[in-house]
Amino acid sequence: MTRYCMYCGAEFTPKNTVGRPPKYCKRSCRQRRYEEARRSLPVGWKTDFLEVHGSKCYLCDNPLTEATMTVDHVRPLSRGGSDTLANMAPACVTCNLEKAARLIAEL
Ligand SMILES: [Zn+2]
Ligand SMILES: [Zn+2]
Repeated sequence: MTRYCMYCGAEFTPKNTVGRPPKYCKRSCRQRRYEEARRSLPVGWKTDFLEVHGSKCYLCDNPLTEATMTVDHVRPLSRGGSDTLANMAPACVTCNLEKAARLIAEL
């Protein structure tokens, strides 16, 4: 079964045919696609984003500003989470690192 990469358009044959078929020929294509999606967010989205979440870290409730917040994927991309604002929440650096460390430990 041949597919076409949604990023670079290259023809590729998925190695793993179990489950959802891959949309990209390689990992870096998927990452670039995600990066571009993020860059296309509207100007000022951080302000709205923080406001929606109460201007605080969604994990520890520490107050956050646009300068101190990091964006956390509630459901990690590696677990099938989407790279959209619906799956993102503001987190402080500490929590974001801790969460990442925990996920790695779980693997
Ligand atoms: Zn590709
Ligand atoms: Zn926090």
